[in-house]
Amino acid sequence: MSGKLLNGKNCIVTGGSKGIGLAIVKAFLAEGANVDYLSRSEAEDRTALEAAAAAGGGTVRWTACDVGDEKSVDAAVEAAASRGPIDVVVNNAGVTRDGLVFRMTLEDWKAVIDTNLTSAFLVSRVAARHMIKKRSGSIVNVSSVVGIIGNGGQTNYSASKAGLIGFTKSLAREVATRGVRVNAVAPGFVETAMTDKIPEEAKEKLKGQIPLGRTARPEEIASVVLFLASDMASYVTGEVVKIDGGMGM
Ligand code: NAP
Repeated sequence: MSGKLLNGKNCIVTGGSKGIGLAIVKAFLAEGANVDYLSRSEAEDRTALEAAAAAGGGTVRWTACDVGDEKSVDAAVEAAASRGPIDVVVNNAGVTRDGLVFRMTLEDWKAVIDTNLTSAFLVSRVAARHMIKKRSGSIVNVSSVVGIIGNGGQTNYSASKAGLIGFTKSLAREVATRGVRVNAVAPGFVETAMTDKIPEEAKEKLKGQIPLGRTARPEEIASVVLFLASDMASYVTGEVVKIDGGMGM
């Protein structure tokens, strides 16, 4: 028997085409998982992902999906479930549309809530039906430290991330007796395309607020998500794990 943490497990990762999601896909593949990742575009290096899947003994598949769209999510998650029972879901897809609240358009508010929060409801709704039937499963939601401590200029984003925390705890209570665990991670400042657009001066200021004195690599988020997804965390549910270098303590 392989000692890999996700050997033969069927995993769905939203927003797996880049950044933290891509690091999660890679970490899962290295642990023997079959990964379906959902995003609007495919990861740039498809060959490398296929090689990683082969090395881990699993598979990798991309499904085009807009996670804020009900029909698109229903089709993508049911397609994944038709290929094998869903064991793990990571709700990771997310966007920012920053701005001060008095200048924020309703469109910017809704776009962020739909992609970051409604998406987790839509994906989990379908996946949980399958997990409840087989009485096992693990859902991990990617929130943010700003969903806990707030951040000026990000009312839409931090509301979506705080919403994810409430969603995580409520769903965890709903499905616990059916053997399904639901947890969240709350990353701090991670070097990805999302944070690339922050002006250099603001980045330096942010770094100054991190007790560990540096930003995180996507792999440092993926390792905690892997732990929560796996049976290593078999007695952990309704938990929010901050991965923020001490920023939100
Ligand atoms: P990123 O590099 O911009 O990646 C975002 C991912 O989400 C991409 O794969 C993107 O794929 C996908 N996505 C966006 N909108 C989508 C949609 N409508 N439908 C399907 N997929 C969609 O960002 P990241 O930094 O890795 O962020 C990943 C998650 O971590 C997000 O939830 C973010 O809020 C959270 N987070 C990030 C940080 C940070 O410092 N970077 C901190 C805390 C939390 P496509 O564009 O191909 O659709």
